[in-house]
Amino acid sequence: MNRLSDIGTIKEILSKHGFSFSKGLGQNFLINPSVCPRMAEMSGAGENVGVIEIGPGIGVLTTELCKLSSKVIAIEIDKRLIPVLDETLSDFDNVKVINEDVMKIDLKKLIEDEFQGMQVVVCANLPYYITSPVIMRLLEESLPIEAITVMVQKEAAQRMCAEIGTRQSGAVTVAVNFYSKPKVLFNVSAGSFIPAPKVDSAVIRLDVLKTPSVDVKDSKKFFRVVKAAFSQRRKTLPNSLSSGLGLPKSEVNNLLTECNLSLNLRAEQLKLEDFKNIADKI
Ligand code: SAM
Repeated sequence: MNRLSDIGTIKEILSKHGFSFSKGLGQNFLINPSVCPRMAEMSGAGENVGVIEIGPGIGVLTTELCKLSSKVIAIEIDKRLIPVLDETLSDFDNVKVINEDVMKIDLKKLIEDEFQGMQVVVCANLPYYITSPVIMRLLEESLPIEAITVMVQKEAAQRMCAEIGTRQSGAVTVAVNFYSKPKVLFNVSAGSFIPAPKVDSAVIRLDVLKTPSVDVKDSKKFFRVVKAAFSQRRKTLPNSLSSGLGLPKSEVNNLLTECNLSLNLRAEQLKLEDFKNIADKI
């Protein structure tokens, strides 16, 4: 079975299975034939590489991943798509579909059980309602994953891949850069999907670091500082940190001065090391 990005084929398969799109599950299926081969190629999928796909839909990206890599595990929450995938993936014996919620499944165990001795990458067209939680889960759990190649909303892609210390950066930029080296691979127009979403998308790749990019004493504290600093991003650091961390302003002022940081700075002007220095001193 191929041509899964062909709109006629998709409609035929879906009507045969009595399937209708669920907006709540972020079901926008790809109909642009050039996107999936490119994504699969750039994801690091290959011989002796295991791939985890989140949300295979009707299998348009899954088939490309199966052609390139030794084993693909596709996690799909919607049980109505399981018989569809049985049919569309029937040509491949290197794929397993798991009917689960990616936010609930034990990923560490899944990798141990399914990918022994293999390098592992993630490749997915993510459902937009859980983009950040999924990416943060993949990064925070110290999973043995080499790279994460995902399609996300263009704005989210720009935010995650922004340079730290610029206006485009946010708490998620710091988090992503703490665990990985992110880059935007290519943009995908809204018209590449059925149904078409309201906004354009982009494919990003996060190369996961073996150890975090800054050596912090306590990562929970580090992220509390980052969250507090960006919680009121228009305010200067003494204001955002003292209200976000519940500390007296005089204490925050002393802390910032000890870190050689001006009291007029805002969160978006700090580097990773600045957040580390503040957190390590609290
Ligand atoms: N990969 C397909 C494509 O590119 O055409 C479908 C992508 S669609 C944007 C997102 C997919 O994720 C849907 O198939 C949806 O059912 C599935 N999904 C939504 N929430 C999920 C969750 N929590 N866990 C696993 N899959 C989920």
